[in-house]
Amino acid sequence: MAMNVEEADWREQAACKGANGDLFYPKSAWSRESKESRQQREQMAKRVCSRCSVQPRCLDWALRNGEVVGVWGGKTERERRALVKASRRVAAVASVHHQGAAV
Ligand code: SF4
Repeated sequence: MAMNVEEADWREQAACKGANGDLFYPKSAWSRESKESRQQREQMAKRVCSRCSVQPRCLDWALRNGEVVGVWGGKTERERRALVKASRRVAAVASVHHQGAAV
């Protein structure tokens, strides 16, 4: 995928730049990873993210681009799915309130 200059710029500041990609992604979509080893891997990746200066931009990018695999912006794929679900619920409630206010 082609990246614009702004996207390339924040990636240059990523704390994970040059880090072991195996921390951030499961070995392969076809290999089974035990729950314990997944949790350990994700915790190690999150430790890298916790000291990353571009963490908010990374998370925002992952959410906007629908990244479905791996740790991005300090969040696992399950945590990102939960964030998307929660934001949809908030948007739906806001929409109902807005419609109510317009009546
Ligand atoms: S937040 Fe984590 S995954 Fe994102 S750039 Fe920083 S270290 Fe890498």
